[in-house]
Amino acid sequence: MKELYLLGATGSIGTQVLDIVKQNPTEFKVITMTANHRIEALRHLIDEFKPRFVSVGQEKDSIALQKDYPNLAIGYGPNGIIQAATYHSNHSDTLLVNALVGISGLMPTVEAIKIKRDIALANKETLVVAGDIINQLLQEYQVNLYPIDSEHSAIWQCLKGEAHKTIQRLIITASGGTFRDYLRSHLQTVTVEEALKHPNWSMGNKITIDSATMMNKGFEVIEAYHLFHVLPHQIETIIHRESIVHSMVEFNDHSIIAQLSDHDMRLPISYALFYPKRVSNPVRSLNLVKLAKLSFEEVSFDRYPCLNYAYQALNKGGNACAILNAANEAAVDLFLNRQIDFLSIETIIKEALDTTTWIEKPTLMQLMDTDASVKKIIYQRYKKG
Ligand code: NAD
Ligand code: MG
Repeated sequence: MKELYLLGATGSIGTQVLDIVKQNPTEFKVITMTANHRIEALRHLIDEFKPRFVSVGQEKDSIALQKDYPNLAIGYGPNGIIQAATYHSNHSDTLLVNALVGISGLMPTVEAIKIKRDIALANKETLVVAGDIINQLLQEYQVNLYPIDSEHSAIWQCLKGEAHKTIQRLIITASGGTFRDYLRSHLQTVTVEEALKHPNWSMGNKITIDSATMMNKGFEVIEAYHLFHVLPHQIETIIHRESIVHSMVEFNDHSIIAQLSDHDMRLPISYALFYPKRVSNPVRSLNLVKLAKLSFEEVSFDRYPCLNYAYQALNKGGNACAILNAANEAAVDLFLNRQIDFLSIETIIKEALDTTTWIEKPTLMQLMDTDASVKKIIYQRYKKG
């Protein structure tokens, strides 16, 4: 029995994690959970999974919950999330599952590493902002970090049993996002509703917008750099509309190994939760004959400038990826709240990268400060009312 400490239980990844738990009741026990605003959904989860500790976004929600669940330990705010991540256990097999969105996932990851708790990480922003520091900590505390992102799970599976020095390149596939068939000239006027309709995946709002701008792919390049210890130029992206080949690795003998499956996040989630075991799951088996065709196209940096900004930030290093992430979080939030148009997302990111003070070797605190100051400037400039 593995104990799970689940951050972001009510989100798209969080609920799919709980789906896997439900299907394997003797394998997992959920000890802590967090939710931000969806308190009704959290109440259902408390009744069903009976955690020992939960944390919510607001103090007032924690007070209301405590009245109904007098025996449950309850926290709130950023500190509550850290309590959920590091909740004490004497059990030998514990796993933090980080399914938060945005930089809110960073500090809980850091604190969990410091108590030597292994991590299944969906929250890609953690590695984007602070990948170097996270890698140092993982090494110092001898902690394992397993990716829950379909592309990185694919690469991880392709690399199984292979010598690192034989890796030639990683090939990350991209669906192309919601607007893959739109000309750039049509992007100026697209609405939030249109942007939220992803052709292949059903995901949280922020990552769906990140997919439409391809910033998500840029983040995945940065994530792959930190997870698999290759150079930026060894990480390529390619458009693959069908989202069936989740990524590939080319080796020094020019053999390319790919991982294919239906697009269903329960596969990478299950792979990370059960690792090193491979276990049956509810994901549909692929009918290759029915699929008939898999297509691959070049990605254009002109069409998707955010992907280019991500490579630039990765090559620049220091706090550049924290600037990239902060500007993107603020810009996507402004777009979702109808304060800016779609193409302003990329303008705002470029502006932040060009104007924010660069720090070569930032500490964790300097990365958090970079995040706060970049967001503050963007909200001051672009938030209406
Ligand atoms: P989501 O918006 O559906 O869920 C996010 C969760 O985080 C919710 O439980 C919410 O309550 C919580 N949350 C949000 N803001 C918070 C804050 N400030 N403080 C505390 N809690 C907060 O998002 P998602 O689609 O599940 O994505 C989660 C992470 O997984 C993201 O980093 C995303 O990039 C990554 N990811 C998602 C998918 C997917 O299919 N959804 C695939 C790959 C990677
Ligand atoms: Mg992905």
